[in-house]
Amino acid sequence: MKQSTERTTINLKQLPENGEQFQFDAAHAGLHSRLADLIGERTYHVDLTVRPQGNVFEIVGEITTEMDRVCSHCGRDLTVPIRDEFNELIVVLNERPRAGHSGHTGSLLEGPACNYVTGYEFDLAEFIHEHIALAEPALPLCQRADCDDVFKRASVQAKNPIDFNPLLRDNSSSKKLRG
Ligand SMILES: [Zn+2]
Repeated sequence: MKQSTERTTINLKQLPENGEQFQFDAAHAGLHSRLADLIGERTYHVDLTVRPQGNVFEIVGEITTEMDRVCSHCGRDLTVPIRDEFNELIVVLNERPRAGHSGHTGSLLEGPACNYVTGYEFDLAEFIHEHIALAEPALPLCQRADCDDVFKRASVQAKNPIDFNPLLRDNSSSKKLRG
């Protein structure tokens, strides 16, 4: 099978019959800059194959990378591993999707997700970017054994300044202060 490690934009019409395999890693400067808003300087590896299947195109593969995030519970820095496997279809529409339809909509029906495009140019960088964004956990957890202890200590520290704030004391203690 034909292999490419350079191009991130493909022309679906020019794919070989048995498909083309694409492999990208962090050495690909062009792709790295497209993903930097999600993964910063982290490395990544992308291995995918695009294959014609009648009127549609199959896109199969996986993306592995990491993200720097903070734990949603204890607030400490953490590295979130991302491993996204996909098996989707690219469907070329003859007409532009009607207003209100986005370019990428998951099918409500059972079956593989469909990427609807309006031309034969397909931007793999955008596809990869969207997949990493979707794979990002909404509430990452560090899984450290002391995650909850650190969270509780942080909550106590956050409360203490309020307890010692004279403005929030009740009247009786204020009177006592004035003597
Ligand atoms: Zn944590």
